[in-house]
Amino acid sequence: MSNPLTDLCSWLQLEDIDAAFLTSPDNIFYFSGFKSDPHERLLALVVFPESEPLLICPQMEAVDAKNACDYAEVIGYTDIENPWEKIKQTITTRKLTLRKVAIEKEHMNVERYEHIQHYFPAHSFISAEEKLRQLRMIKTEKEVEKIREACRLADLAVEIGVHEITEGKTEMDILATIEYEMKKMGHEMSFSTMVLTGANAASPHGTPGMTKIQRGDLVLFDLGVVYDGYCSDITRTVAYGDISEQQAVIYETVRKAQEAAVSISKPGISCAELDLTARNIINESGFGNYFPHRLGHGLGVSIHEYPSITETNPLLLQAGMVYTIEPGIYVPNIAGVRIEDDIYITESGCEVLTRYPKSLQIIQ
Ligand code: MN
Ligand code: MN
Repeated sequence: MSNPLTDLCSWLQLEDIDAAFLTSPDNIFYFSGFKSDPHERLLALVVFPESEPLLICPQMEAVDAKNACDYAEVIGYTDIENPWEKIKQTITTRKLTLRKVAIEKEHMNVERYEHIQHYFPAHSFISAEEKLRQLRMIKTEKEVEKIREACRLADLAVEIGVHEITEGKTEMDILATIEYEMKKMGHEMSFSTMVLTGANAASPHGTPGMTKIQRGDLVLFDLGVVYDGYCSDITRTVAYGDISEQQAVIYETVRKAQEAAVSISKPGISCAELDLTARNIINESGFGNYFPHRLGHGLGVSIHEYPSITETNPLLLQAGMVYTIEPGIYVPNIAGVRIEDDIYITESGCEVLTRYPKSLQIIQ
């Protein structure tokens, strides 16, 4: 049966690679089901074309690792042991020769690279990233089920936030309520929740603080929830009290751009076409200079993965991809508006996984 691990093994065989040495927690989770944040300690999954995989982790996590991934040999190491020595011993015991090793070049740091060269000399190191991205970019039905649930929870989290809006509450007040309610239900956020209002919302990656919500402000929510290891990512912008005509025009422009890109989402459309469909609408409205980021990004185990929806990416959409569409217009001191949905590409079109309404909502 095909699964991520067997697909990776097939690639190793095909490319004549002796091992893939994976070190990023998200890739390790994707291939092993073991989720861990090891901080500075070494966590690695070594996958071979034929021999069983090795999972190296701090000793205190070894039982959890074995429970998550019973088909791997788990090697725990204590804080006074050298994990590299232990990996080397196992590889020697198994009589494996490593000539060509795939590593995550973007993730591995210089110190670890020096260790790997020292313990496994005379090897060539190639990048595993491109293959890992390709595998992770196409989701299975099982993965989509998890993202769908994460999106349902994100819709609920926005609803909780919108209900909290009242005069005098700070961005932090509202953010704390959202995260508290989600945690009480047993869920973690995919990233630090953003609640931005007034001038703060005009910064695409602003930092929530003690700014109080006032009538006539737009309030931007950008948040996501994790369900069984998979992320959602939603943005909604609502009005508190009546807003200016200019703010309303900005809102409608973003909504039109967002919906236009959603409506053409289907297999065979390029990422560039998607981005440009939204971007052209914003450009034609005269706000082109105020949309300073790409249209969207893939998501799954990580909050940002492939495909990258940029105006120069010729990659064609395929069934199984899940990505965001999130145009925004940020005019300093006037308005910050972004609307973001998570889209799943099906054989015949797409399914919009986030469902919170997008027509302008005015909270009185
Ligand atoms: Mn977002
Ligand atoms: Mn996003």
